[in-house]
Amino acid sequence: MTYIYAVANQKGGVGKTTSCVCLSAALAEHGKRVLLVDLDPQGGLTTALGFSPDSFDTTIYTVLIDDEVSLDKAITNSKTDKVDFVPANLDLAGAEGELLGEIGWDRTLKVALEPAQESYDYIFLDCPPSLGVLTTNALIAAQRVLIPVQTEYLAMRGLKQLTQVLTKVRRKGNPNLKSKVLRTLHQARTIHASEASDELEKVLGDQIYKTIIHRTIKFAEASVAGEPLLSYLPESKGATAYRELAKEVLEDE
Ligand code: ADP
Ligand code: MG
Repeated sequence: MTYIYAVANQKGGVGKTTSCVCLSAALAEHGKRVLLVDLDPQGGLTTALGFSPDSFDTTIYTVLIDDEVSLDKAITNSKTDKVDFVPANLDLAGAEGELLGEIGWDRTLKVALEPAQESYDYIFLDCPPSLGVLTTNALIAAQRVLIPVQTEYLAMRGLKQLTQVLTKVRRKGNPNLKSKVLRTLHQARTIHASEASDELEKVLGDQIYKTIIHRTIKFAEASVAGEPLLSYLPESKGATAYRELAKEVLEDE
């Protein structure tokens, strides 16, 4: 059984890509085989893993657009054992328009991922910061949505819009889609952040992870080094937090 997660939030800079990178490394420590898929034309995941987006000819774009190109042609080993990824670059920006003309445009990714299910325990789809064609494809392909949310009130407003999209996706094509919020970039010392965090917990009940990811510069440092914080600073608080999150993810299945 392969669990497919869309990591989504239409806001940029909330920790989607970081969560994909760190959670995959933490699951790999449990022996899980993980595939990451970069769905952002900016190639943020590809970059965070230490690769140059422009160095790839075969990317998720080619897989989505060209029926002759199968997913395995685009799968690349990351520096982390048991973690592979499918890169993206700016070509992907064209996919939105090109896919819309196709029959079953919103199921293109779901179909493309089918052959990978035998080789991986988890697949994480790193969505772009929008609710367009690519994010819709991810939400149709996934069983679960992990929603990184910064613990501040403005971020919670954006969550409402995403929730409406999820309701629509459930009604029109993926009725069993489950979602869970991950609190990120938390600044424990501010009252505002603590209040926002408590409010999220109250509103979401069991649809929120207990683990809270605190704000620390170490994540950016690891990203510049092109590796997960879990290998860059294995004993850091941030690495420990994503290990806790991985335990929650494992318990959910
Ligand atoms: P997204 O994919 O949602 O746009 P990223 O994961 O790329 O967000 O994070 C945006 C920036 O914030 C990156 O520079 C990343 O290193 C940094 N970052 C991510 N999580 C944290 C955190 N918990 N604390 C501090 N910085 C973080
Ligand atoms: Mg990103």
